[in-house]
Amino acid sequence: MLRSVPFTFCLFLLTMAADAQDFNTVFEKTNGAQTATYAQVMDFYQKLVKVTPTLKMQRMGLTDSGEPLHLILHSPDKDFDLASLRRKNRRILLINNGIHPGEPDGIDASMLLLRDLATGKLKLPANLILAVVPCYNIDGLLNRSPYSRVNQNGPLDYGFRANARNYDLNRDFTKSDTRNARAFAELFHTVDPDVFVDTHVSNGADYQHVMTLIASQPDKLGGAMGKFYREMFEPFLFKDMERKGFPMIPYVTNFGPKLAEEGMEGFVDTPRYSTGYAALFQTFGFMPETHMLKPYAQRVQATYQLLLTFLDFTSRESILIGRLRRQAREAVKTQTEFALGWQKDPLRYDQIPFRGYAAAYRPSEVSGQPRLYYDRNQPFTQTIRYFNYFLPTNVVRKPAAYLIPQGWWNVIDLLKLNGVVLQRLSTDTTVSVEVTRIDDYKSAPRPFEGHHLNFDVKTSVTTQAVQFRKGDYLIPTNRAANRYLVEMLEPTGSDSFFAWNFFDAILQQKEGFSDYVFEDVAANFLAKNPALKAELEQKRRADPAFAKSGRAQLDWVFRRSPWYEKEHLRYPVFRVLNVELAK
Ligand SMILES: [Zn+2]
Repeated sequence: MLRSVPFTFCLFLLTMAADAQDFNTVFEKTNGAQTATYAQVMDFYQKLVKVTPTLKMQRMGLTDSGEPLHLILHSPDKDFDLASLRRKNRRILLINNGIHPGEPDGIDASMLLLRDLATGKLKLPANLILAVVPCYNIDGLLNRSPYSRVNQNGPLDYGFRANARNYDLNRDFTKSDTRNARAFAELFHTVDPDVFVDTHVSNGADYQHVMTLIASQPDKLGGAMGKFYREMFEPFLFKDMERKGFPMIPYVTNFGPKLAEEGMEGFVDTPRYSTGYAALFQTFGFMPETHMLKPYAQRVQATYQLLLTFLDFTSRESILIGRLRRQAREAVKTQTEFALGWQKDPLRYDQIPFRGYAAAYRPSEVSGQPRLYYDRNQPFTQTIRYFNYFLPTNVVRKPAAYLIPQGWWNVIDLLKLNGVVLQRLSTDTTVSVEVTRIDDYKSAPRPFEGHHLNFDVKTSVTTQAVQFRKGDYLIPTNRAANRYLVEMLEPTGSDSFFAWNFFDAILQQKEGFSDYVFEDVAANFLAKNPALKAELEQKRRADPAFAKSGRAQLDWVFRRSPWYEKEHLRYPVFRVLNVELAK
């Protein structure tokens, strides 16, 4: 039921007959009313792969569902060895589907795409490899019903957003609470995609556009890749989709009815999200979001067309995309400063065409109160302001290396999973390092994705000689993984390991004192440290409440004494400035 695609350049139509076997999908057989179940998806691909020499499906790691993640590769020259394909300078486009299985558009569009490639209806240019995750959140796809997305116009039944343990996988890319995320990290680094597309369906306001698009925020993506995205990649995508009858708009971040007047801003895709994760590893990342109120068939068709547009551009600019990524990976090895926060530049914006519907209010039949509605009989096109220029905040200077005691194996495991090469100290060693102290932080009172996130983190740094043991981990920062390292290991990063509670144990003091015992110890200690005693007296004079509290004063002395544990609030990732050690 998809219309024929007039491919430009590399993607062109062939008139080969389809294979005798029936490869019509559930989506096609039901005229776009239904999406495939997990069993139907796997059955379809198993049969398709069996009769298609250019296709290979492989099992990856387990997901929380108990089922393994699968990866499908379409390789025109039947070479499925990813190292070999990289040597041949092929560009790899990875499509991830069903991260939110209530949004199955990409699951069905990818089935059609791989089928059309398999049957010869489409031909993939020789410089491309297509990699597809049929369904990432298998757990969620198995949890099927017609209810979980009340604001969505079809299909009849669909999966649920969260996975088997109720995690949202599109917040789990770096903290990796789920087996899904761990299996995905392995898959991502095995494939090392040049372009990564994670398919979704939107929520929010009503408007005419069928397709909206989130891309790695170009300023955050940075350097020559960010410039290339703005100047070449993005204009091609929007122009090509307009040509195909699906004019896109960037993901609509302004959910209210005043979008046309207020404009909207770009989405800052921090590393917890798929595209933010991809950006850490110099991959162009995209989250297409079809509009939830459009009929399912139309959404799948738009997704199919956008996937073809991605393939087309990646093939056309194959050499340049490859070169930009190689250069970015070289540049990041010697990059010294990294931005961990971004804020909108309020003075810079682009003017983009927005095709909306007039919004108005009428009395609600439920509450009698005014309710918002969109009048589809009043479509309009208006130029709106799109604020997608972001300025760096919280710029961090990288150390020559990080040192992590081996006890923090949970963090070490994730670093390894993400391809970070670690060295181990060969002997017990005392090293002069920058020690970061957590001076202040806030924690969310209620859990978000299983965590009471830490934020507004304030730190101070001192240089100290710290004893490390044989086997502790040294991570030099002359690596292509630098961006991932700094984002995850600097405690002020918004999606850092510290933010996601990996180091919360250091926030609690383990040993204290009994007042009556410490009284005499403290008195002796002050007698031997007259400067400290003078400081205590000065604080008493300045702070009447402090002067009246015996406990507060004892605690003040305790924290300045050798009996106070050094581990409390001491961030256990140490910054090595000595370049020689880090080599
Ligand atoms: Zn989604």
